[in-house]
Amino acid sequence: MEPLLNADLHCHSVVSDGTLTPEALAARAKANGVQLWALTDHDEIGGQERAIAAAKAEGMKYLTGVEISITFAGKTVHIVGLGFDHTNQDLVQGLRNTRGGRGERAKEMSEGLAKVGIHGAYEGALKFAGNHELISRTHFARFLVETGVCKDTSEVFRKYLTENKPGFVPHRWATLENAVKWIGNAGGVAVIAHPARYGFTANEEYALFTEFKIHGGRAVEVITGSHSSAEALRYADTALEFELAASRGSDFHSPDESHTDLGTLPWLPGQLTPVWELLSDRIQ
Ligand code: AMP
Ligand code: MN
Ligand code: MN
Ligand code: MN
Repeated sequence: MEPLLNADLHCHSVVSDGTLTPEALAARAKANGVQLWALTDHDEIGGQERAIAAAKAEGMKYLTGVEISITFAGKTVHIVGLGFDHTNQDLVQGLRNTRGGRGERAKEMSEGLAKVGIHGAYEGALKFAGNHELISRTHFARFLVETGVCKDTSEVFRKYLTENKPGFVPHRWATLENAVKWIGNAGGVAVIAHPARYGFTANEEYALFTEFKIHGGRAVEVITGSHSSAEALRYADTALEFELAASRGSDFHSPDESHTDLGTLPWLPGQLTPVWELLSDRIQ
């Protein structure tokens, strides 16, 4: 398959912190010209059967997907998995454990917000969570916008939900090794998501890419809604340097919040190996 394929291999549904159902996402992707799609909910593959059926109904090719939260060098990093067997029990159980701490964390976040006069945030956020096992900062952000504390979700993150802010609670997610192995052992390909977002030093980033490869990771997101064009160029070089395939995905969450819509990204640079070339036998 050619690099000029309208592949969108990163987005979120109500099964995690998106606002659309898997079926509505499939219809939107198709309408926007997506030819190969993956639904990549955070730490959860409960939407995969619906996404597979919806892609089929739309006549769109599909790869299974997930975005796993890991902790690396004291920061949260996201590892996308593509083309795995979504019934693999080690993967299913690993993701269940990864989700496990979210309820307690959400209650602590709510206590932090109460200290600065914002009350009822846990219950408020929960109302926005389509999947109560997957209560996330995004749902708190929506509650604070709804109640008029902030004008949009990026303001909420800036003022309340990032490091050293009242609603931020540090959390230990999965390890890099486990996430990459769960995906690989289930027949999929692990991808470092939106690498420009982490704010790592050059040494930390080198360690991330090096350890990712040692554990069997094979690709990096180069074209994503989170990257500027300069960042895309920079990580195209990183893909070549580390001999990784390249992925492309909008990271679409919601028509009201996301600035990059499904299927509306720049093409993958031609000199890179598209991640879908590694997954031709996993496309359904
Ligand atoms: P959590 O997994 O609960 O830590 O929530 C992480 C999610 O918050 C990400 O997947 C994004 O959807 C969202 N997020 C993180 N940072 C920001 C930001 N600065 N602005 C808007 N959304 C953000
Ligand atoms: Mn998200
Ligand atoms: Mn992410
Ligand atoms: Mn994402």
